[in-house]
Amino acid sequence: MNSTSTPDLIVVGAGIVGLAHAAEALRRGLTVTVLERDHRAVGASVRNFGHVCATAQSGRGLEYALTARERWIELGAAAGIDVRQVGTLVLARHEDEARVLREFAATRPAGQVRLLDAEEARELTAQPLPGLLAAAHLPLDLRVDPREAIPALAAWIAAQPGAEVRFDTHVTAVTPAADGASVAVSTNRGELTAARVIHAVGHDVDRLFPALAEQIELKRCRLQMLEVAPPRKADLGPALLTGLSMLRYGGLAATPAARDVRERIQRSTPELLDVQMNLMLTQRPEGSLVLGDTHVDEDSTSPFDDERLAELLLREGEELFGEPLTVRRRWRGVYAHSAATDFLVASPHPAVRVVSVTSGIGMTTSFGLAPDVLDGLVWPVDSSRHGLEWAHDGGQAAPVAALASGA
Ligand SMILES: Cc1cc2nc3c(=O)[nH]c(=O)nc-3n(C[C@H](O)[C@H](O)[C@H](O)COP(=O)(O)OP(=O)(O)OC[C@H]3O[C@@H](n4cnc5c(N)ncnc54)[C@H](O)[C@@H]3O)c2cc1C
Repeated sequence: MNSTSTPDLIVVGAGIVGLAHAAEALRRGLTVTVLERDHRAVGASVRNFGHVCATAQSGRGLEYALTARERWIELGAAAGIDVRQVGTLVLARHEDEARVLREFAATRPAGQVRLLDAEEARELTAQPLPGLLAAAHLPLDLRVDPREAIPALAAWIAAQPGAEVRFDTHVTAVTPAADGASVAVSTNRGELTAARVIHAVGHDVDRLFPALAEQIELKRCRLQMLEVAPPRKADLGPALLTGLSMLRYGGLAATPAARDVRERIQRSTPELLDVQMNLMLTQRPEGSLVLGDTHVDEDSTSPFDDERLAELLLREGEELFGEPLTVRRRWRGVYAHSAATDFLVASPHPAVRVVSVTSGIGMTTSFGLAPDVLDGLVWPVDSSRHGLEWAHDGGQAAPVAALASGA
């Protein structure tokens, strides 16, 4: 490690949140060093659906998502990432679900939501989809393959003038530097200093900033996922969301009919609500389908995955397609979750931001969140911004005492 290097900005964490901030900093002409503890990113950002689920969000999430989709398209072209502009198809298999879609469409500008009948929807996705009543196509939504996109983004950042990405570099402390103005970052490979630091470590905020994590009651949300062989008709086209997704994404969940959807599922298949299932699918470049997901909030993630959850997922996936599905891979993902805020942006020191997407939509929103965070990390340092900022209605600002030291 070059211990004399003093970039304008150090970003800790090479998941989508850290990389989005690094890309935004480069756009603003700053020099950036990204530090990642693993040999390559293996966190939530490579384990997800790669679904840029913009339209179904609400509030701040929707604002960030609409900015982020533009940046995905732009950066995708620059970094050689295959960003598919295929949209999302939200499927209604019950009358209450069809009502959700109509109510949702009525809240959105023309062009964001296209209501379809069952035949039009089947044509768009080339799947038989038995029992389909209606659907909504959300054309703004995007799809990337996260296993390709995240390394490609890191490589693109590393190749830019003034940028560096260091893997195998575990950050163990973030403290004020001796000059009092800049920030010292200690790692397992030595110390660096920078004018500013963005700490973007996903669900591991509590490792260096336990008080912060406690303030927002940060949990580790564990998801079980399946990859299944391509169905008979191979091309899925858009991502598929279902009635369960209508309970999860703000824009859909805010419709009056969403309550009826929940009550019906509670009566008919309560086990799906018990495991917080969001039945949805995306397609990988070689054709296989990513099928998920179930959610459980924990302080520390259990090492033991429950096969019953995988069976439930497969059962629901097979019912959706009307045919047996063959599992090729199983995995789990973990993301940061807080019931208090959708986005954590905290300032334990005027020159430091601790940033985490605490609502499970980091692929969708990070490129929109990053400009907002960097706007607040202005030159010269604005010391009035020392504290906990809530990028969500309903939170309360509270100061954070000290910078983190020790692993
Ligand atoms: C199964 C699953 C499906 C999902 N599907 C979607 C989806 O389709 N669309 C969507 O928008 N969102 C989705 N999400 C959410 C999304 O993946 C997350 O919001 C996002 O990836 C979080 O990004 P991150 O950079 O904060 O975390 P991560 O990707 O976990 O990255 C954090 C990085 O920080 C590094 N790190 C941690 N501590 C240190 C340290 N001390 N020093 C150096 N490095 C450190 C870690 O090694 C890691 O690489 C999904 C999540 C999961 C788990």
